[in-house]
Amino acid sequence: MKAGTSCIFCRIVAGDIPAEVVARDPDVIAFLDLEPLADGHVLVVPRAHAAAIEQLDADAADHLFRLVRRLADPVRRAVGAVGSTIGINNGEASGQTVPHVHVHIVPRWPNDGAGSVHTIFPRRTSRTLAEVGAAIRQAVDA
Ligand code: 5GP
Ligand code: ZN
Repeated sequence: MKAGTSCIFCRIVAGDIPAEVVARDPDVIAFLDLEPLADGHVLVVPRAHAAAIEQLDADAADHLFRLVRRLADPVRRAVGAVGSTIGINNGEASGQTVPHVHVHIVPRWPNDGAGSVHTIFPRRTSRTLAEVGAAIRQAVDA
């Protein structure tokens, strides 16, 4: 997807709409979330449009996670946090609202009232680990 299209993050990448940019490199840009869940809530975004992880090419994925890794400590220190939750809503079913891959870095403090990744899920399963493991191994090899 090119600049000038309806993708809000492509428009930020192109500089068509403003954002509070905190880091940039040739392949990735990081800016503050407009509706932060906490001070220092950063979105790390590949410049090339890809709706979800499955569409991201391998080099773009490398660059994306390199910047996530590089930012984790400075973002935490900048707001005096003691940890962070780092996550991706991948696809509409997961709650992704902007269909351009982005990694959330959300600073965390003890007793900040937020849960862990585990608290997103009601823990509903119907298949054994062995059954699911076999199915995934087969899909990986396919
Ligand atoms: P998602 O739900 O897709 O994982 O997260 C999308 C995030 O993008 C949300 O946290 C939302 O606040 C943020 N967001 C949506 N539109 C804009 C925008 O125009 N500028 C910035 N900086 N963040 C945005
Ligand atoms: Zn886009």
